Amino acid sequence: SIKAKVLVYAQHGQPESVLKCISHELPSSPQGSDVLVQTIASPVNPSDINQIQGVYPSKPDKTTAFGTSEPVAPCGNEGLFKVLAVGNKVTSLKAGDWCIPSNVNFGTWRSHALTDESSLLKISKTITEEQAATISVNPSSAYQMLTMFEDLKPGDWFIQNGGNSQVGRAAIQIGKKLGLQSISIVRNRDNLQELVDELTALGATKVITEEDNASREFGKTIAEWTKGSPIKLALNCVGGENCSNMARKLGKDATLVSYGAMSMKPVMIPTQLFIFKNLTAKGFWITANVTRVPGSKENTLKAVQKMMEDGDLVDVKVTHVPVSADGSEEEVFKAFETALTNSKQGKQLVRF
Ligand code: NDP
Repeated sequence: SIKAKVLVYAQHGQPESVLKCISHELPSSPQGSDVLVQTIASPVNPSDINQIQGVYPSKPDKTTAFGTSEPVAPCGNEGLFKVLAVGNKVTSLKAGDWCIPSNVNFGTWRSHALTDESSLLKISKTITEEQAATISVNPSSAYQMLTMFEDLKPGDWFIQNGGNSQVGRAAIQIGKKLGLQSISIVRNRDNLQELVDELTALGATKVITEEDNASREFGKTIAEWTKGSPIKLALNCVGGENCSNMARKLGKDATLVSYGAMSMKPVMIPTQLFIFKNLTAKGFWITANVTRVPGSKENTLKAVQKMMEDGDLVDVKVTHVPVSADGSEEEVFKAFETALTNSKQGKQLVRF
């Protein structure tokens, strides 16, 4: 049998105080439609943390299946697994294949899992481990937001804040592939030019700071860039003043899509934008789209994977936190603890 380690919580709270790593035995020869997988890599996403804190609407069920006396919930929603063995009824996967969870709340912060074939999606090895481990949330969200709200045509402009986020970086690249022009708003920093160069190399048309975004004067520069062509779509990762100022850049009949609230401030839209510009403001949640728009997950994964294969979407910038799948509970715990601690310094990927 295999000694699997899994990060769980019994009560909601700050991850550092409620998380623990427990181990449980899994059979090395799965039966029927069961699949035994080993984790290759699992990221720490903002929503994983919100889920543990108890402020995220979708959460995993608590269970005693890991052998605990009180019910616990497994952490992590996204990750890449390698198939170790399959039951005799399994048809879509075989040993050695890569796969990702077919739905959220899988509990990906673990070394191994035994699960029904239906809860896994095979993913071909034509992209990197980093890309496969992070394909379902960030690049997929960027793709859906750029394609589901406005019928954008090559040459059209969109604007986004959180331009340096993983979603933002994916939107820049996917936007470029779709022939779109983009304005990305980022937070100012000492080495701003370095970031501007990096995002420009990814395909950003223009990168501006929050101060530029807040300046009325700067509006003229943007009008020169767009040559009067209306900005049709805004992707809001941040909220607060940043979002209000971004909304002011939109043209008539545009859509503001909110998907994140990194500033923890509400979205405030000047009323005149609704009245005189016929602004539409909507929310986006990829988790809900899995059922709200049937087939969207599969179609999006296909499109995004193709862009990765073609080199249009380059490897995500991640920090690896290595740990052995055979490591002790303490070692596995430590890896996720480190990843959580550093999660504000760029995307962390725990690699088994
Ligand atoms: P990352 O960890 O890659 O990036 C976070 C970004 O937020 C960084 O660019 C950071 O800027 C910026 N940021 C943090 N705090 C602030 C602040 N106070 N003001 C302005 N910017 C800030 O995140 P992800 O790309 O993984 O996710 C980004 C957001 O999108 C999260 O809120 C996440 O929950 C959400 N999301 C939502 C989805 C949905 O379906 N609704 C799907 C996917 C993600 P800096 O570079 O300056 O540090």
